[in-house]
Amino acid sequence: VVELGMPTRSVVTTCAYCGVGCSFKAEMRGDQLVRMVPFKDGGANEGHSCVKGRFAFGYATHPDRQMNPMIRESITDEWQVVDWDTAITYTARKFLEIQGKYGASAIGGITSSRTTNEEVYVVQKMVRAAFGNNNVDTCARVCHSPTGYGLKQTFGTSAGTQDFKSVAEADVIMVIGANPTDGHPVFASRMKKRIREGAKLIVVDPRRIDLVRSPHIEAQYHLPLQPGTNVAMVNAFAHVVVTEGLVDQDFVAARCEGYEEWAQFIARPENSPEATESITGVPAADVRAAARLYATGGNAAIYYGLGVTEHSQGSTMVMGMANLAMATGNIGRDGVGVNPLRGQNNVQGSCDMGSFPHELSGYRHVSDEAVREVFETLWGRPILPEPGLRIPNMFDAAIDGTFRALFVQGEDIAQSDPNTKHVTAALAAMDLVVVQDLFINETAKFAHVFLPGTSFLEKDGTFTNAERRINRVRPVMAPKTGMHEWEIPCRIAQAMGYEMSYNNPSEIMDEIAAVTPTFSGVSFEKLDKLGSVQWPCNDAAPTGTPIMHVDGFVRGKGAFVPTTFVPTDERSTRKFPLILTTGRILSQYNVGAQTRRTANVAWHPEDVLEIHPHDAEVRGINDGDMVSLASRVGETTLKATISDRMPVGVVYTTFHHPVTGANVVTTENSDWATNCPEYKVTAVQVGLRTSA
Ligand code: SF4
Repeated sequence: VVELGMPTRSVVTTCAYCGVGCSFKAEMRGDQLVRMVPFKDGGANEGHSCVKGRFAFGYATHPDRQMNPMIRESITDEWQVVDWDTAITYTARKFLEIQGKYGASAIGGITSSRTTNEEVYVVQKMVRAAFGNNNVDTCARVCHSPTGYGLKQTFGTSAGTQDFKSVAEADVIMVIGANPTDGHPVFASRMKKRIREGAKLIVVDPRRIDLVRSPHIEAQYHLPLQPGTNVAMVNAFAHVVVTEGLVDQDFVAARCEGYEEWAQFIARPENSPEATESITGVPAADVRAAARLYATGGNAAIYYGLGVTEHSQGSTMVMGMANLAMATGNIGRDGVGVNPLRGQNNVQGSCDMGSFPHELSGYRHVSDEAVREVFETLWGRPILPEPGLRIPNMFDAAIDGTFRALFVQGEDIAQSDPNTKHVTAALAAMDLVVVQDLFINETAKFAHVFLPGTSFLEKDGTFTNAERRINRVRPVMAPKTGMHEWEIPCRIAQAMGYEMSYNNPSEIMDEIAAVTPTFSGVSFEKLDKLGSVQWPCNDAAPTGTPIMHVDGFVRGKGAFVPTTFVPTDERSTRKFPLILTTGRILSQYNVGAQTRRTANVAWHPEDVLEIHPHDAEVRGINDGDMVSLASRVGETTLKATISDRMPVGVVYTTFHHPVTGANVVTTENSDWATNCPEYKVTAVQVGLRTSA
């Protein structure tokens, strides 16, 4: 920490890392950020924080930050620094040329879950109104798109059901495919407090995560299932509930539909814990006991993460959890619910803002004529009724030659998306790649235009956290790049001939509120007055909605959906006998673009491969050896760490460092409904490379 003296002023803003959305006082001395102090009145964190939010802000002033726009004709050329006018004019001209030559559908954009709601909104508007298509997708495609699909099908809206505070009323906490102590530390503290007070804990995860056994905490059940078998597990839970008479009949009769058909499906013998034991690898007796605890232990809340969504049946699993919660009446009050732990600061918001190729803001399908009319009237441009391309479709179309130009907002797709070779081939095939980011990342190596973005300390706007809480992000300094990030798409659109301008982000939020029923009561003025609000915020709920589906589901009746287990195509073989699963670590954040440029990197300077002692021994691998990790799509090298946290046959790594590039080996398999990549299941071989 640089000694900067006592702060002279402070600004309340929101952490730019995970989906907990902690509020901080950024304490300043002049233009220098002296320290980040957790804000005691923060709705999500109540004065707490973790090492990322509190100490890892140095990336905002890191010398690697690019402050000037740059252009180049070819990716083999040197970058040429230009002024903003030149960069905007050049970008717009290129988009228009490509649009004219190949048609409107040949261009598109990707929005970021790290930018503000207002910045996301203007990118999707630029694509729809100026590009003239629905080829806009959010980086949530690769994390929580199955949450959006699954919760919408069952409950009627694409968001978690509870506020964080509600965990204090839970009697049974079930954590599925999430590692909150590393991924969502401040919420994990709330959860642990409740467990220490006596709430029972069920952990469903292949790894023995810290929560399973830590000081004063011991999970009642840890169910270490085989990666890729979540749906078999949730069906087995539901089978116990239905066949042992544990259904909340009153709740189901009053609030739900489709129960009879679903109950017949779930009661089939193939869904029993005994029948699925050979699939999940978890003893049937443990599954039965855990299911009984969930159904009869009082208020039962499910918290889940990417270990649920990033599978070929991610959407099915989300619906399976919703079925289970409805069958047991665990919806619509404190201490219950189905709650996604969102990875990035604004995953919820980037989805809410209409940056999906099939949905306008507020999760309304583009085929809905009445909804399109609202936007067409305000924007003065027609909106196509057909969905546009999803991110993986953009890559495939680029390789086919039909998709030629891409605007990428704050997302390093070349490092974070699966099957790196395929992604980089797609980027290399495009005529124009425009990257808006803080740093020259892996994607920018394929870019023709680089437009420098702003850090959270320079932003004015809002982030929406995992509990639908809209938090204000307030600038503590002027944009170091000389341009607000929300202005960039507006100016590109204008240069392409579409008038799009705002005086400030507050006006953008006013427009969002005007076209989005769940946001109709949101304004900067209200947020500044109340601190934050949780959507829906409208005439019916002027101060927001902490808990959803209280008196009825958003879709009317909650819908039971049969969830047949279909094994993933990705199976271990003689050549690739182990299963790789991936995740993250406390001190680092996603692809590490931010945290690797802070002192946090000292805690985790490289990605390592966790391997069970048995699997290591048969391969002659010792702790610290360098090993090769290969799948059918690629190979990388990293250091082995021998750990009995892993089950035999499963290895684990993080994806924070581009040198290791874990996604070199992950495959193109994806969720059947949303194309969310199956990061959590890759058949691999591991071999000794050299001694460390
Ligand atoms: Fe930031 Fe998440 Fe840590 Fe809170 S828990 S300080 S939001 S990284």
